[in-house]
Amino acid sequence: MVNFEDTKTAFVTKSDNQLKKAYWLFKLVASQKLVSFGKWSSELALKLGLPIKGIVKKTVYDQFVGGETIEECSKTIDALQQHGVYSILDYSVEGSETEEDFEDCTQKILETIQFGKAHGAVSFAVFKVTGMARFGLLEKINAGDTLSTDEKIELAKVKDRIMRICREGVENNICVLLDAEETWIQQPIDDFALEMMRMFNKEKCMIYNTLQLYRWDRLDYLKDLMATAKEENFYCGVKLVRGAYMEKERERAAEMGYPSPIQPDKESTDRDYDLAVEFCMKNHKIMSLVAGSHNEESAKQLTELMEKYGIAKNNPHIWFSQLYGMSDHLSFNLAKEGYNVMKYLPFGPIEKTLPYLIRRAEENTSAKGQTNRELVLIEQELKRRKISN
Ligand SMILES: Cc1cc2nc3c(=O)[nH]c(=O)nc-3n(C[C@H](O)[C@H](O)[C@H](O)COP(=O)(O)OP(=O)(O)OC[C@H]3O[C@@H](n4cnc5c(N)ncnc54)[C@H](O)[C@@H]3O)c2cc1C
Repeated sequence: MVNFEDTKTAFVTKSDNQLKKAYWLFKLVASQKLVSFGKWSSELALKLGLPIKGIVKKTVYDQFVGGETIEECSKTIDALQQHGVYSILDYSVEGSETEEDFEDCTQKILETIQFGKAHGAVSFAVFKVTGMARFGLLEKINAGDTLSTDEKIELAKVKDRIMRICREGVENNICVLLDAEETWIQQPIDDFALEMMRMFNKEKCMIYNTLQLYRWDRLDYLKDLMATAKEENFYCGVKLVRGAYMEKERERAAEMGYPSPIQPDKESTDRDYDLAVEFCMKNHKIMSLVAGSHNEESAKQLTELMEKYGIAKNNPHIWFSQLYGMSDHLSFNLAKEGYNVMKYLPFGPIEKTLPYLIRRAEENTSAKGQTNRELVLIEQELKRRKISN
């Protein structure tokens, strides 16, 4: 059994000062008012060109981001690797809208693959389709609207970018994950992912799509995907998450008057998440799984299921994954017990990672229980090290 209470292991990479800083940061983000104020003031200050980069860098950025460039992340990657934790470089620049930005993003992802090839501690790459496609274009495809000639050309370029990344991954033995996004652009993302799985997962699983189990239709989608994989003879890769855009999804559905795509309550999301994980374990000969979660119960459940289905802890097709700066008690204790673990390690310029950072702060505000858990564990570790916070 994994001991998630082992704080010495959990925070082994954190210096006393880093630990104290993390404590105060989680205390601050627990306050809804402070996070809302921080969001508003940082966005405004950056727009006005006020010098707040230094403050952002020393606080949220250092806690949740690996660095501005891949090279800057190297030290962190090495530190994680020393304790058996892999990294997945996540280029966290959001809100791009120009062809130049999309090409730039594609180049960055290709660089993460090259870095992975040269570095034993990086065996996955990840990207968001909105990093290489215009949101409005994806929305139009999702809605089934007819594309203009220019838009068809635009779409061909998007497909080419996705293809280049997946091919580069496969040729360099680096698996590729596609992140999941808003429901009103998800259909084309699912279609791209399926096309790539059909093409590149013939001999082993290299391409993974992401399924958000806060959607009530995703368990059926998973089962259909598996049936297609079986029928057409390819391996199926999924990253299972609960989902990050719940409020936005509900608000849009209410505003536009369509049924919410989101489960009625947390219990339903948890139930489907558990069922999806069990489905993958039952079918582990065909399904590969990345479990993207900070939920301790979910991590425990997966370890138990692996035992139940006779799956080795280091089975190369099963990965636990958390975000850098969060739930180290899961990552490091699972790795210590021999499970495959990787941390999403975001990188990018400070001002461009702001939306990602704001999402992390908001997530820690809404996930009260989890933030408290982080705080209690950090407190325990500070006490063990005989340091006052
Ligand atoms: C490695 C990794 C990769 C990720 N990749 C993606 C991605 O590609 N796309 C994406 O959307 N998210 C992604 N996420 C974020 C993820 O979807 C969750 O938002 C986050 O991890 C919190 O869920 P949890 O399982 O960790 O914890 P928990 O605290 O157990 O669950 C919180 C989640 O439960 C759901 N929930 C909460 N309240 C309710 C309610 N009232 N009704 C219904 N559901 C509810 C929401 O999804 C909420 O985020 C990723 C997370 C990780 C760790």
